[in-house]
Amino acid sequence: MKAAYHSGKREIIVKEVDKPSPGPGEYLVKIKTCSICGSDTWWANEASADEPVHGHESTGIIEACGDGTTKFKTGDRVVCYAIFGCGKCAYCKAGVPTNCQNKKFVEGGFQEYSVFNENLLFSCPDDVDFITASLLSDAIGVPLRGLRRLRPEKDDKVCVWGLGPLGLLQLMFLKAHGVKTIIGLDTVDERLQKARELGADHTINPLTQDPVAAIKELCGGLGADKAYTYVRHSKATENIFKSTREGASICTFVGLDGHYELQEWYERTLVWSFYFTPDEYEENLNFVKDNKIDLKKIVSDIFPLERINEAFMKRFEKPNESLKIVITMD
Ligand SMILES: [Zn+2]
Ligand SMILES: [Zn+2]
Repeated sequence: MKAAYHSGKREIIVKEVDKPSPGPGEYLVKIKTCSICGSDTWWANEASADEPVHGHESTGIIEACGDGTTKFKTGDRVVCYAIFGCGKCAYCKAGVPTNCQNKKFVEGGFQEYSVFNENLLFSCPDDVDFITASLLSDAIGVPLRGLRRLRPEKDDKVCVWGLGPLGLLQLMFLKAHGVKTIIGLDTVDERLQKARELGADHTINPLTQDPVAAIKELCGGLGADKAYTYVRHSKATENIFKSTREGASICTFVGLDGHYELQEWYERTLVWSFYFTPDEYEENLNFVKDNKIDLKKIVSDIFPLERINEAFMKRFEKPNESLKIVITMD
């Protein structure tokens, strides 16, 4: 089978490797699509000696069933989950493998076949095509978990920092949730334009406008009530605190690093949100369906596996020309 390998800095090759076979409790999946995630930044690093195949937003069709499996049959359409918990700890037992201290990240999406434990596969609705289906795990799961962990009121003035694919989905979901004032921020003008098309009420480019002053002016002088951030940059972090009002809440998806000048009187609630839990999958599908959200609006390109290097180049080197990019295995 064909599989993508990380062979050097900004370099992926497609080579012929052995097809895997499913062990007990596992399925062999014929991969149909896999989206490039904003976290696939390994691409810009040096490859290690035996770099495994990456890609964790995949979909496919059950090709073979391992011993003891009961959940799916050959030919079933599936969406893949990327976090495999130990199954024994309190977090795993509570249905939150994302908090498991021994979790493993499962990839293998950029190849023709891959093996998954049955706990890592969800059923894909028949009426959803495989391009859209590649957005049904990570891409919608992350912003919707953010919406659960930090619930906005309809009258809140809400900022979304970073308008890559997930930031744009956050904006669409906030809109669908009924939030009346949404302000989108990004340093790429094309993404601000896209945000306006998708329902942002105001957009700000922090490179050309002081974001703190602009947000305060749009929010009656005090600042935003809530902010959702996909930007990991110390200056942006400071600005997010300074542009929210006293008592506001901030939800981050990307971690924090750097040096901050944040005063002790900045009373804020900081909410951390990571990936999504398996139990949320069905609820997420219903949210998208009930609100008639067209996820393809954030797909900018579809590339075949053979052109994966070009796809990564476009995703990470040309943010003004790309949003979500989906790789197809056919
Ligand atoms: Zn991801
Ligand atoms: Zn565990």
